[in-house]
This record gives sequence, structure tokens and C-alpha cells, in this order.
Amino acid sequence: MIGAYLPGNSTVVMKEVPVPVPGHGEVLLRMKASTICGSDIRCIYHEHLGKGPEGYQGVIAGHEPCGQVVKVGTGCRQFAEGDRVIVYHISGCGICNDCRRGYMISCTSQKYRRAYGWQRDGGMAEFLLAEEKDLIYLPKELSYADGAQVACGFGTVYEGLEKIGISGNDAVLITGLGPVGLATGALCRKLGANKIIGIDVVPERMKLALDLKLCDEVLASGPDNVEEVRRLTGGNGVERAVDCSANDQARATAIRATRKWGRIVFLGEGGRVEFNPSPDIIHDQKTIYGSWVTSTWLMDELVERLVRWNLHPADLVTHRFALDKVDQAYTLMASGKCGKVAVCFDEEL
Ligand SMILES: [Zn+2]
Ligand SMILES: [Zn+2]
Repeated sequence: MIGAYLPGNSTVVMKEVPVPVPGHGEVLLRMKASTICGSDIRCIYHEHLGKGPEGYQGVIAGHEPCGQVVKVGTGCRQFAEGDRVIVYHISGCGICNDCRRGYMISCTSQKYRRAYGWQRDGGMAEFLLAEEKDLIYLPKELSYADGAQVACGFGTVYEGLEKIGISGNDAVLITGLGPVGLATGALCRKLGANKIIGIDVVPERMKLALDLKLCDEVLASGPDNVEEVRRLTGGNGVERAVDCSANDQARATAIRATRKWGRIVFLGEGGRVEFNPSPDIIHDQKTIYGSWVTSTWLMDELVERLVRWNLHPADLVTHRFALDKVDQAYTLMASGKCGKVAVCFDEEL
């Protein structure tokens, strides 16, 4: 089979490798959709950030895979040939405290924690070897391109929104309208938020947020954003803010444009932020949450909700590429002039 590798200089290398054979507790998936994440661009494509066991280990790229089980190893307990599945993108040891909570992202085992597309082969290939315990059942109502975004993208957002709580009481500010910001808009709608304000710098993304009706108002990033958000919210600011930008100014805006007793969650990775604790959070009784990825059990629940809400993450996919055009997919994603970019196979192309 052919797999795509990222040497770290903004290029893609294709290599032919043998199709893996599933061992005990493992399954072989025929890949159907594999989406590109902002962290692939930031930490692998341009340069290899992260060293040692946390770094990219020169494996087949792609940590947002979704496919169909074509072969089952010995000792599998639930999944069978023909099942459609989502892959939780980090395979943990399964028995440390974090793994037992379902947060394999935080697995503490140096020996066994391996993320797909980082330390073990990922989804930018025709087949993927996965551990059965990392799989979530993909219901027939959802496409593979829907499923590819459930673990890292929509799951990460859902986890953050569950932490701050979103309801019809809330105006929500989203700083950063890349795929994670757009997913935030989509989920906030279904959770009842009826005033959603987005901020970004890329015109294509701002337009997409309005065209897909994921934001009611979109502001161009600038020094007056806090005032502009207050003007749109009765002078008080939003009840909830979600930072998906990792930009220091945007994070400060998210904090300052949130009203008294409000809650802010940071999802965007990397970078810094500077704010003044007393006026910016303490005196106004605000809470800032950090949220990293999600758990397997919350993913299960999210999948059920997506079906109930008739919400399709694939609506955020603006561009689909075949595997042999994967270099164009990464180039486009790196430009930011797009929604979600997917490498697709068979019926998903
Ligand atoms: Zn991701
Ligand atoms: Zn573990």
C-alpha cells in the first residue's frame, strides 16, 4: 500500500509499504476519510516540533482517520469485518488512571502511549492498523467524512463546551474560525446558543462561518474587538467564550469580552497570553478552563447526539483530495484559505 510521510520541510513523501496484518486485539481498517488537523501543520508539516516520545516518529501521517474494518485479529471482543468505525487518535496503555477515565490523550505510559499519525502509523494510507479498544462505532446516519472529525475536531470542542456549559441563555464568542472554531459554532447552535460571534483574520474563513450560519456576527480581528463584542451583547459581553486561535491578542479578547461570572475555555494550542488577573478575571468572577481533546466515552455520546441533531461534521469539509494528491491537501490546509481538508477514498471521494 501507499502511505504519506511528512519530513518536516512543508513537503509530503509517498512510500510503498506492506499492508499490516492485525495481531491480538488489533483490526485492519480500509481507510475511507482522513482529515488534516491544524496541529499536523503546526507540529509536523512545517517542522517537527515536540521532541522524544511526544514528537513525530516518522510514521505514516494523519491522526483523524475513519474507515471500515476489513480484518480482525485474535481476541477482539466487539468489532467485526464490515463495521464502520471512528478511531480515537491516541492509543494508550489502557490501564493507567487517565486511560481508565477514557482520556488516553493523557496516558502516562511512556512505553505504550502512541498517537496515530505521530508515533504509530496514521490514516494517510490505504489501510490502517488500529487497536480495537481505540474504536468507536460509526452509525449509518453519519458518513466517514463525518466520523473522521469526531475524535480530534468535534470531540475536542464538545469536551470544552461541556466544561463551560452552553445553553439558550448564552451569547458565545469564538476567537479563531479555523475548523475547530467552525465546529464550535456548529455545536453551540445545537446546544441552544442563539447569539454566536466569531473573530478571525482570514476572509475565506469569516465568509464560511457566515455562509454556513455558524456565526451570527463575524468581526475582523483588531484592537476594538472587546468594545465591538460588548456593543453586540447589551454592553455586557458574552456569557461564554471559546478560544480556538492560540493567538495572544485573541485570547486576551476572549477573556475581556466575557461578562461578569462568565466562563472561558482555551482549546487552541501553543503560544502565550497576557492579562491582568484583578480587572480581567478576579473582580469579575470569571473562570478560565483549559481543555485537551476528549475521552472515548464522551465521543460515544457525541456520536449519538450528532445523529439526534442531524449535525454533519462533513459540512465543514470544503476540499476533498485523493491520496495521490495529498501534497495539495497539506498545501491548502497550510494556507488557511479553506474549511476542513480531507483525503478521501472510494465512496467518500
Ligand atoms: Zn487533530
Ligand atoms: Zn495509559
